[in-house]
Amino acid sequence: MKITFPDGSSREYDAGTTLAQIAQSLGPKLARASLAAEVNGSLMDMATPLQEGTSVRFLTFDDADGVDIFRHSSSHVMAQAVKRLYPEAKLAIGPPIEDGFYYDIDVPQSINEEDLQRIEEEMDRIVAEKIPFTREVLPREKAIELFENLGEAYKVELIRDIQDETVSVYRQGDFVDMCRGPHVPDTGYVKSFKLLHTAGAYWRGDEHRKMLQRLYGTSWFEKKDLKIYLNRLEEARKRDHRKLGRELDLFSIEEEAGPGLVIYHPKGALLRTLIEDLEKKEHLRRGYHIVMGPQLLKVDLWKRSGHWDNYRENMYFTEVEGAQYGIKPMNCVSHMLIYKSSIRSYRDLPLRYFELGTVHRHEKSGVLHGLLRVRGFTQDDAHILCTPEQLNSEIRGVIAFVRDMMGAFGFEYGMEISTRPEKSIGSEEDWERATKALMEALDDEGIPFKINQGDGAFYGPKIDVILKDAIGRMWQCATVQCDFTLPERFELEYVGADGERHRPIMLHRVILGSIDRFLGVLIEHFAGAFPPWLSPVQVKILTITDRSANYARSVAGRLKEEGFRVETDLRNEKIGYKIRESRLEKVPFMLVLGDKEADTGTVAVRHREDGDRGAVPLEEFIEGVRDQMVPPAIPYKEN
Ligand SMILES: [Zn+2]
Ligand SMILES: [Zn+2]
Repeated sequence: MKITFPDGSSREYDAGTTLAQIAQSLGPKLARASLAAEVNGSLMDMATPLQEGTSVRFLTFDDADGVDIFRHSSSHVMAQAVKRLYPEAKLAIGPPIEDGFYYDIDVPQSINEEDLQRIEEEMDRIVAEKIPFTREVLPREKAIELFENLGEAYKVELIRDIQDETVSVYRQGDFVDMCRGPHVPDTGYVKSFKLLHTAGAYWRGDEHRKMLQRLYGTSWFEKKDLKIYLNRLEEARKRDHRKLGRELDLFSIEEEAGPGLVIYHPKGALLRTLIEDLEKKEHLRRGYHIVMGPQLLKVDLWKRSGHWDNYRENMYFTEVEGAQYGIKPMNCVSHMLIYKSSIRSYRDLPLRYFELGTVHRHEKSGVLHGLLRVRGFTQDDAHILCTPEQLNSEIRGVIAFVRDMMGAFGFEYGMEISTRPEKSIGSEEDWERATKALMEALDDEGIPFKINQGDGAFYGPKIDVILKDAIGRMWQCATVQCDFTLPERFELEYVGADGERHRPIMLHRVILGSIDRFLGVLIEHFAGAFPPWLSPVQVKILTITDRSANYARSVAGRLKEEGFRVETDLRNEKIGYKIRESRLEKVPFMLVLGDKEADTGTVAVRHREDGDRGAVPLEEFIEGVRDQMVPPAIPYKEN
């Protein structure tokens, strides 16, 4: 039989040759790296014998499919270890996930850290035993019988839901699992793994059914990659914005006030104000009008906008004097009412309405996460109403805005375009024009982009900006969405040059997105050590003894004149202690003042990262840091 490979080459083999033997014939390195194979489009185990000529692609840990197969095999190894230690355990499902895998199991006792360690040790033994994964195909009834005898009620339920005549099961030694496969050749492959934590998970995600224990793990083909990943996890833990938010006294989320509702403390509120001030300034400069809308709008408006039909379960409602109101989940509606408040001509367009709009959306309490996933948040939201001819330059203006703002915060980013999904409204022509406008705008700005086929909103295509933080994690922030529907529903019009009435196009766009979420990302990106312009306290003045208190007050006064944000620590504490404390507060500059400094009008400068910078005259210090204390100059070019 003739086997063809991805590079176009082909070789002859005897019928019945296994995929493992074929890989071996191509070289020992490939044979070692191959986890499974794609044969004529379907995934197969390496032990599968081939009977006729076909095309074969070997899957290694460099392929997404290979990674999934590897991690899924890891979950089987974990499940086998669990069954050895807890024979009464019932298994539910165990899929691969990003960076790892999990398995949902039903055991009476709660699995703790120590138990995870014991499970890991058992997994080590299973890995050392190099037990082959073997596939078996059973008639559906036989499979049900097998798992009934094993007491695996969840598996029986899953098989009963399958319509297929046959069911495949995988065995590794005395362990058996119902599984589509494929799997790696033997358990010895899964040698670089770590179990991470456990969480509760309802069977089939149904809160009326039993709560199972979900055991999470990660696994990698190479030991060194496991190490890198664990370091990254550790780094992320240290940067966790919930932990830093507490330590730096930025914000809190109180059960008493309600889950997902953020309370900003003075330093967090200041941080947010700094960002919002920058945003207002930049929006005004770019020809946006700042507007403000109410938190509550009558339900009829939400019916007209389509939110009632499509978004109601995410909204909060209330009643005022017998009338139904909805708390806004988005800012679009007020902005359209402003547009409609007078007759618009083509000469008035584009109109750009900007609002730091606080919105409320219902999120299930299980998915809430610090500032990243909340129920109330503020967006830097704008709606641009323009003519079709203006679409390209308006999108380019937003793209340039994103670039400038990301530059100010020091983020790298990438862009993606999402196109028409299956369920969508609007004409083919509108979609094509808008998608083309988005692509052309990115091309014109020289920005490469990825296309997410069919991922657009139901009312129009969009650009998503994905930013990359200091430890390589990706975060979605800015979006630009084209919308033909809302202008239609609200009958927005302008009088064209031809004297006729036309419909404007609406762009929904955010630059940072949710300010709250962006703040969470910023805290993790900088690990709480914000650049001076964003630091709630920029300079902390520390006295060595009481004798310098008056000098410290005069230095603080001079710095405040400059607009610097200053705190003084005049407490009768050891200077080493005071320095340690302000380093924990991540204050960029510390000025240590003693008799010598007071006598000579100098300040001894310490930086939070590089420590002692020596004594300099006060004015010299001010000159040296002045530029860092204000937001970076953002380039702006009128287009
Ligand atoms: Zn499986
Ligand atoms: Zn909108």
